[in-house]
Amino acid sequence: QESWKVALFGDGAVGKTAIAVKFTRGTFLETYDPTIEDSYRVHASFQGKPAFLEIVDTAGQDDYATLRDQWLHSDSFSEGDAYILVYAVSSRKSFMRVKAMEKAIIRARSKSVHVYPVSILVGNKYDLTDQAGGREVGAQEAYELAQQFGCHFIETSAKSGYNIQKMFETLVVALRNR
Ligand code: GDP
Ligand code: MG
Repeated sequence: QESWKVALFGDGAVGKTAIAVKFTRGTFLETYDPTIEDSYRVHASFQGKPAFLEIVDTAGQDDYATLRDQWLHSDSFSEGDAYILVYAVSSRKSFMRVKAMEKAIIRARSKSVHVYPVSILVGNKYDLTDQAGGREVGAQEAYELAQQFGCHFIETSAKSGYNIQKMFETLVVALRNR
């Protein structure tokens, strides 16, 4: 059976853990514990074909150097098949952070002989766009950034479940067609 390892990156509180929990357990994580760093193993089905996923959650690091050292040189990153770059559509700061992370990843990648990982840019907390002032990052500008990075793009909500399955499916289909 096919098996893929995917890692979640992004600023603190954007919903990385909530996305992993929603996808693997179907429940919404209400509480915020910034320190949770776990792996979630799940059997799933995409386009009618089974796949085993190992989802590696990371704890958002405020210190840029720590992020670089902890993740770009970690096994989770170098042995990962795909990574998910998460920001919150309600937080411009988290979007700026994801931009910086992807630039660092692209720089690190060019030195690597490994096959390029598949990646997706994810604007989480889509449910908050229902509220006035709930959106700080437009879908169009995020889509354009993803084009620039050569990665996929999708907006999700770990709260409502919107596009969570579709996001993982997009990754797995890209991995299958790589
Ligand atoms: P992480 O630091 O990126 O792992 O963020 P968490 O997954 O711990 O989520 C941080 C906070 O945002 C928690 O209180 C979650 O309940 C909340 N949260 C996560 N995803 C969503 C979402 O899609 N919509 C809303 N409204 N809140 C979310
Ligand atoms: Mg977390």
